[in-house]
Amino acid sequence: MNELIKLVICGHVDHGKSTLIGRLLLDTKSLTNEKVQELENVASLNKKEPDLAFLTDQFEEERRENKTIDTTEIYFKTKKRRYCLIDTPGHIEFIKNMMTGATHADAGILVIDVAEGIKEQTMRHLVFLRSVGIKKIIVCVNKMDLVDFDCRRFRDVEKSILEFLVRLGITPLYILPLSAKKGVNILKNAKALAWFGGPSLIKALDVLVPEIRKGHRPLRLPIQDVYRKDGETIFVGQVESGGVKTGQKIVALPSGEETQVTSIKIFERKKRTAFAGENIGLTFKDAKTIVRGTIICQKENPPCACDHFTASVFWLAPEPLSNNKKMILRSVTQEVGCQCECIETRIDASAFKVLEPNAQYLKENELGKVSFRTERLVVLEPFDSIAPMGRFILECRGAVCGVGIIG
Ligand code: GDP
Repeated sequence: MNELIKLVICGHVDHGKSTLIGRLLLDTKSLTNEKVQELENVASLNKKEPDLAFLTDQFEEERRENKTIDTTEIYFKTKKRRYCLIDTPGHIEFIKNMMTGATHADAGILVIDVAEGIKEQTMRHLVFLRSVGIKKIIVCVNKMDLVDFDCRRFRDVEKSILEFLVRLGITPLYILPLSAKKGVNILKNAKALAWFGGPSLIKALDVLVPEIRKGHRPLRLPIQDVYRKDGETIFVGQVESGGVKTGQKIVALPSGEETQVTSIKIFERKKRTAFAGENIGLTFKDAKTIVRGTIICQKENPPCACDHFTASVFWLAPEPLSNNKKMILRSVTQEVGCQCECIETRIDASAFKVLEPNAQYLKENELGKVSFRTERLVVLEPFDSIAPMGRFILECRGAVCGVGIIG
């Protein structure tokens, strides 16, 4: 039960995202008795069916009051494991955490109202998910009760969403018909949807594979902190890819310094090995250049450090991105000043259509192929080979203004 899957959920306003979140909490019995009672009280007061969106609105209110990140992350559990739902886009802290390696989202849930079909915002959200590297997507075609659970209406929406996803290079894991309000096809398959051969939403979620896996991947360990204890220098970080073992020869990038791991500790206990997803402390035989932001890699076939690169950028700030604009780039624990050198293409995120090549600017919610120059060498790799090393955020005056992936 320790496994936690992180899901980002999005969809056009009023398509039923809050109701679906409430429904997932209720049907998986993840609510406290007080919350269930509160829901029933509000419903009987208004002489209506319980409004599940009320639960999500309440979480949002609590978040605003507490101003903490934790309360915006809504947790529910199934028999198999725990889930964390994050409302996005708009949750800038989450985006920042995800792009700098603090959080990994395993998949995205997109909610579409069957009666309304795809809207501009739906497409923008999908492009956004794609830009932050989330390719595992479950599409929920909601409000099926409004069309009498009609197969044809579902297939029409399914066809149009598939056309758009193909253009984005995304194959959805599932496209599911359901009704969040009535609780149809959430926990288990329903008679009303007997024509649908696929799983219920919970079944579809329970077969998801978490993003981080052990396996034979090359070592990437970004150093987060360095401190001295009992005369020893300890380097702390999260293994982002592959594994590391005591005695292993490594190369520290971007300096290129070569050394050897002398010890590994996890929670004060000595270990011989550590794998992706684990936070560790380690010591090296020699470490003249290793600081916060250094990437520890295996000696064989290390990646290249570079000071210019091209990436797909999703621009989030009201002030446009323009040539020569200076920003701060953060990728895992790396932080470096950078400058926009050229906007090679400007793409309309809601239609995924190239607007112009060699553009002068990129506006809010637009996507572009952009080349950058950094003030120092950084380690960036194709997103499709090592995801955490292939994504970054851009900051202007301390605020996130864009997100990008390599490739
Ligand atoms: P959000 O803006 O995407 O969070 O949408 P809400 O969850 O607030 O839902 C918008 C409206 O759609 C509310 O009036 C809901 O009661 C209604 N709604 C949500 N899901 C369903 C559904 O499955 N069937 C029907 N008939 N209405 C729904």
